[in-house]
Amino acid sequence: MRDPRHSILFEPVKIGPKLARNRFYQVPHCNGMGHREPSALAGMRGMKAKGGWAVICTEEVEIHPSSEVAPSIEGRIWEDRDLFAHERVVNAIHEGGALAGIELVFNGPRTNTASRLPPLGLNSMPVASEWLEPLQGRAMDREDFRALRRWHRNAALRARKAGYDLIYVYAGHGLTLTQQLLSRATNDRTDEYGGSLENRVRLIRELLEETRDAVGADCAVPMRMAVEESQLELGLEKAEIEDIVGMLAELPDLWDFCMGSWSRDSRTARFSAEGFQEPFVKGLKRLTTKPVVGVGRFTSPDAMVEQIRSGTLDFIGAARPSIADPFLPKKIEEGHYDDLRECIGCNICVAGDMQSVPLRCTQNPTMGEEWRRGWHPEVIQPKKRDARVLIVGAGPAGLEAAHQLGKRGYEVALTDSRNTLGGRVSRESRLPGLGTWQRVADYRLGQIAKLDHVETYPASTMTADDVLAFGATHVAIATGARYRADARGRAHPRGLMISEGASVLTPDDIFDGVQLSGQVVVYDDEHYALGSAIAEKLAGEGCSVTLVTPAPLVSYWNQLNLEQGFIERRLVEKGVRIIARATATEIVAGRFSAQDDVTGARLDISADQVVVLASREPQLGLINALKERQAEWADAGLESVTLIGDAHNPGMIVHATYAGHRYARELDEPMDADAVPFLRDMPR
Ligand code: ADP
Ligand code: SF4
Repeated sequence: MRDPRHSILFEPVKIGPKLARNRFYQVPHCNGMGHREPSALAGMRGMKAKGGWAVICTEEVEIHPSSEVAPSIEGRIWEDRDLFAHERVVNAIHEGGALAGIELVFNGPRTNTASRLPPLGLNSMPVASEWLEPLQGRAMDREDFRALRRWHRNAALRARKAGYDLIYVYAGHGLTLTQQLLSRATNDRTDEYGGSLENRVRLIRELLEETRDAVGADCAVPMRMAVEESQLELGLEKAEIEDIVGMLAELPDLWDFCMGSWSRDSRTARFSAEGFQEPFVKGLKRLTTKPVVGVGRFTSPDAMVEQIRSGTLDFIGAARPSIADPFLPKKIEEGHYDDLRECIGCNICVAGDMQSVPLRCTQNPTMGEEWRRGWHPEVIQPKKRDARVLIVGAGPAGLEAAHQLGKRGYEVALTDSRNTLGGRVSRESRLPGLGTWQRVADYRLGQIAKLDHVETYPASTMTADDVLAFGATHVAIATGARYRADARGRAHPRGLMISEGASVLTPDDIFDGVQLSGQVVVYDDEHYALGSAIAEKLAGEGCSVTLVTPAPLVSYWNQLNLEQGFIERRLVEKGVRIIARATATEIVAGRFSAQDDVTGARLDISADQVVVLASREPQLGLINALKERQAEWADAGLESVTLIGDAHNPGMIVHATYAGHRYARELDEPMDADAVPFLRDMPR
């Protein structure tokens, strides 16, 4: 039963001429599908509508080819030929009973466009693209501003034609031309678009008025705006933000507040708690009578209610919580609190978009697969016949497989050597800042506990004898992987010279409770979150830590999930010395030696202990022993043995939950190895 205190979340709220059915609002978010995969996009957005969100928005949608952000895959509404894709998305959203919003964008000088139109900007400045191309935008003149307004108006008219209910004017996340106009840090124009705040706001006012004039009676016109900016002393600050909101107060039908850059807006849980944007948004609502939406990775209904009751927000905005659990509103509405699948704030979803591949989610393996594979986050097909499935290893792969197979109706036994179920998740989540990762195990263990035909057996190491005696029809081997101590990996394909007497440890040793002290080198040839988190932990425990990595940056991969800069700062604050572009050459007792990859110079670092992260070794002992005894399978009633998760190919937690899910879906419906295993959006 729903807690009556949460009923306020289900009050309908007016947005201009439209009525939102509740206060759950999926704010615009990128997804790596964009204009390339409209059917997959419609499947994803439509699923959230079914899950109870009242408003579902697109990603940023470029209004003109000169606003293209290639190679990122965003939305396009350049011409009428783009409408079929939008109609697909809008229809899916409407079928689920939600309002559809579109975020129109003009990006300003951001990238070398594939269309080869010269970038347009406020001034002649280098483009702010990922690769820092030596290319400058052209300072827009009056004619350009008139053209931009025309493009925006035309895009708004097209958006109405496609059926959108909300048509945004957008000035957030740093790279929009409109935000650059607002900010003294970027706007040094001396014409009617520069100088006074009135002038800097001019284009936004024009776009709001012209969009309303074009579509106003039929559609709501929200305004999305950055409410902080870190641009040294010139960036937008609270007083100026308040002036802007005050000046435009009633012009939009809704205010959607965000941060001045994506990395600060979508901070990972390692660097922000739920509700972390409240200090920036609090107080702005009193400047307008229009409804206000803001985000903060909200997954707790109590925290959501507090945002409404305190007069901070009218809508609970969400991108990531809606990705991790498209059915979050429905579950709260129906009081199924135990079933909430909370976002862990890992930003794997963001990394998908950054790599221009369909977004994926650690917590929700069905994300992005709604149309392509026909996967539903809450529903799975019933079993085809009775069978008993044994799953060895209760990490994310084993847990997900057990949960989903249990939902399918199979009799499932889940065993693990350790006393605590959760595998790597329960170990990695004990590192500083990674506590939310434990939600991956907690959610699944909670779900499994409700299924009386799924049994769990902690502290139960399985041998081949045990498996053959178990009487299972199918066995999934999810025994995981362990870090290698010899640094075999990208920089050292054949491992590293480690002399006897050297104290070399791996993250697994640290998880097993080995205590370190004195001078420690963390050698990170994995380039992910764990090397830096271990360095942080050891520094916090009083070790003198040097992190050495062959990559140009510490936690190099984490640029993709937007947290690399935060990680580096944290390490510096903790006193960790960072040496990048250095490849280990040897480890002897008391010393770690490396080569400076730029100069070739030798580096010797005193080290009482060295922690090595390079590659992990799949744990194949059990499956190999079973394969050797394949002749006995039939007598044991065993039909299949399948390797899944990190034991199959080590990766991030997201890969393991996906592997477990896929195993559960395909157990009795094996894929044709020669066929493409999913639908594809083909160009028209
Ligand atoms: P994944 O990420 O693929 O789920 P993990 O490394 O998180 O893998 O989990 C693997 C789990 O398998 C660990 O908790 C480990 O204790 C367990 N395990 C490994 N070998 C055996 C075995 N022979 N019997 C039971 N459990 C095992
Ligand atoms: Fe949340 Fe991680 Fe899923 Fe993104 S990938 S929605 S951050 S759990």
